[in-house]
Amino acid sequence: MLALDNVSKSFGAKLALASTSLVPTRGRTTVLLGPSGCGKSTLLRLMVGLVSPDAGRVLFDGVELAPASIDAIRHRIGYVIQEGGLFPHLDARANVTLLARYLGREAAWIDARVGELCGLMRIPADALARYPGQLSGGERQRVALMRALMLDPALLLLDEPLAALDAMTRRELQTELKEIFARLAKTVVLVTHDLHEAAWFGDEIVLMREGRIVQRGSLDDLLARPADGFVTQFVHAQRADPRLAVAA
Ligand code: ADP
Ligand code: MG
Repeated sequence: MLALDNVSKSFGAKLALASTSLVPTRGRTTVLLGPSGCGKSTLLRLMVGLVSPDAGRVLFDGVELAPASIDAIRHRIGYVIQEGGLFPHLDARANVTLLARYLGREAAWIDARVGELCGLMRIPADALARYPGQLSGGERQRVALMRALMLDPALLLLDEPLAALDAMTRRELQTELKEIFARLAKTVVLVTHDLHEAAWFGDEIVLMREGRIVQRGSLDDLLARPADGFVTQFVHAQRADPRLAVAA
């Protein structure tokens, strides 16, 4: 699957990612967690070849991401960003099916796959006739996920996919997505700055700070065995007000 081997990236004088190696576990969800600007999106963009490393290599099934290999590899990766990244001038269905049509998949196959994904993502088929601007934020992200899943990718990369949603819609999608990832046994890398979301999704949490991985492990590891003072600070900064705790 995907492997980052001593990959680093600077933008001008700014070190966005120090030399980093990471192999997301197959069939599980790896969460990239950390404060704004710590390099989470850069790491994800390196994985999908939208940013090329200054040093090190990104490998997909042993093949290095390079101009000659990138198109074929991208077709095996689903990628969703915070605002969905849907093309505003295409309706939802055209967005979902764009790549499949470009690759010459048969109309009957496309129809069947769209039907399957509507069921999976709980989108009514008639919503697919609407343009992104005519969908709610939650519907837009459902459509963006359908688009990412259309070709049954080996790897799903999600960059703060729920961050722009209201709390209730976000909760609903968190619940559904976790179930879907488990059912499909997808290898997922999900970016968030939210500790609760990381704990919810993450089979493994990768906590980052200033372009470096500070700690990898479970939520329990971060809580009980913090690698350094930053881990403890980060966790404490996100502890909810106990007065808001809902009785179980
Ligand atoms: P995060 O997703 O964790 O918020 P990013 O990976 O987007 O962080 O950014 C890491 C650092 O690299 C930030 O300081 C950001 O300003 C910088 N950066 C990211 N992309 C670019 C770019 N295309 N050009 C210049 N600086 C960038
Ligand atoms: Mg980001």
